[in-house]
Amino acid sequence: MTTQIPHYVDGRRVTGRSGRASPVFNPATGEQTGELGLASTSEVNDAVFAASKAAPAWADTSPLRRSRILNRFLRIAEERIDELAAVITAEHGKILSDAKGEVQRGLEVVEFAVGAPSLLKGTISENVGSRVDSYDVRQPLGVVAGITPFNFPAMVPMWMFPVALACGNTFILKPSERDPSAALLLAEWLTEAGLPPGVFNVVHGDKEAVDAILNNPEVMAVSFVGSTPIARYIYTTAAANGKRCQALGGAKNHMIIMPDADLDQATNALMGAAFGSAGERCMAISVAVPIGERTADALLERLEPKVRALKIGAGSDTNAEMGPLVTRQHLDKVRAYVESGVEEGAHLLVDGRDFRSNQSGYFIGGTLFDHVTSDMKIYKDEIFGPVLSVVRAPDYATAARMINENEYGNGTAIFTQNGDVAREFANRIKVGMVGVNVPIPVPMAFHSFGGWKASLFGDHHMHGPEGVRFYSRLKTVTSRWPTSIMEGNEFVMPTLS
Ligand code: NAD
Repeated sequence: MTTQIPHYVDGRRVTGRSGRASPVFNPATGEQTGELGLASTSEVNDAVFAASKAAPAWADTSPLRRSRILNRFLRIAEERIDELAAVITAEHGKILSDAKGEVQRGLEVVEFAVGAPSLLKGTISENVGSRVDSYDVRQPLGVVAGITPFNFPAMVPMWMFPVALACGNTFILKPSERDPSAALLLAEWLTEAGLPPGVFNVVHGDKEAVDAILNNPEVMAVSFVGSTPIARYIYTTAAANGKRCQALGGAKNHMIIMPDADLDQATNALMGAAFGSAGERCMAISVAVPIGERTADALLERLEPKVRALKIGAGSDTNAEMGPLVTRQHLDKVRAYVESGVEEGAHLLVDGRDFRSNQSGYFIGGTLFDHVTSDMKIYKDEIFGPVLSVVRAPDYATAARMINENEYGNGTAIFTQNGDVAREFANRIKVGMVGVNVPIPVPMAFHSFGGWKASLFGDHHMHGPEGVRFYSRLKTVTSRWPTSIMEGNEFVMPTLS
């Protein structure tokens, strides 16, 4: 049975009326489970209208009251984490424990955002001139929008909307068409927590809906997370239309393994970082760079049997360590990359294409390539699947240069016992998020998340202090009260002193 998946506008579910729809599948079985109405421009404009209407009252609601609503939402979501995780697994395919982990990481941003009264405090300078005070405040932007990818259908929206709402904005979320149902649960729970109608809206759709958001003059800011070509398009279009924009793109994350690293630790770290969530994470490690031939041989001796032993199954199977890929098309794309690696001469140590499942979903096993070089397609492109490339480097300097020359700069890690090398790496590497003996250095909610180079377009990273800056604008007030201006007219440029 397929479910009709509606939009959520002005505090209620709204059936799509564009006549255009796209199918939603269960990646573990390959069955169609839902039909998603794709919003037309006028449906998006309706949602923006609802958000505009709700904006003045929400901006005037005190930050403390806004926080209380977010706090109630937090409690509801914590109580129903299993329900949300099951919805994510059913449409995305990731294993249940991983789905719960993603919700948990998202809720940490809500925990950060409930500190809004403190986060939005301004500063004051008394007596900047004689009897003159100056203070600054951070005010909401109005209607803001978030456009999100398939790989974290709950966490990535929660990188955005808790901070946006806490700052007093109203929100339009355009989730991925591939796993849209998590967003609806979040919307309903926000309403249940007491969020007024129109403050948080969900419109489903494809390019037409995205363009309608980008072209609507009421939308003041756009947050985007997805692939680099689309991020570039979103950023340039939003900027040309005078909107504030943060657009996070794709990634190719390297992990350097120094000869002094604890290789058992490094191997375990690589297994989770490369194959967790079937490699469909923007912070997944897709390139391992052991330094020196001996390190490479010793690492592969440990890694290869573990990749072969990966337990692959449906996300709902509690024994599985890795689920299927998200769609048939994505599976075909990842398989084609494995083929291209072989054609270009990389050594295929474990071929995930050999994996056979008793289910008809989009499964592929863990894949391990050795002797990959930086001119190969499997090195240059973001594969976004469970494919780990080992690039052997003779020394640290060669490895660091390769990372710095890479198009992307989302995350990277080094495994070493040498503090001097680790410090040099953290200090000089041209990547936004760096791990030292930590394979996936995703910052906590009270820090900010974002990459460099083709992994982020715009000035602000997401959530944490950068999120507060992105979702609010600064106003500085300089005030002098009548006793000091009673003394007569002033015709010279005021110097305040
Ligand atoms: P995607 O770029 O295909 O889609 C992202 C969003 O853009 C979706 O909502 C989609 O509907 C919309 N979209 C797709 N095509 C569009 C078009 N032509 N015009 C306008 N909008 C369009 O990305 P995806 O496949 O859903 O997600 C995977 C990608 O996201 C990977 O590249 C991954 O690295 C990246 N990602 C990055 C981060 C990060 O923090 N940098 C986090 C998660 C995912």
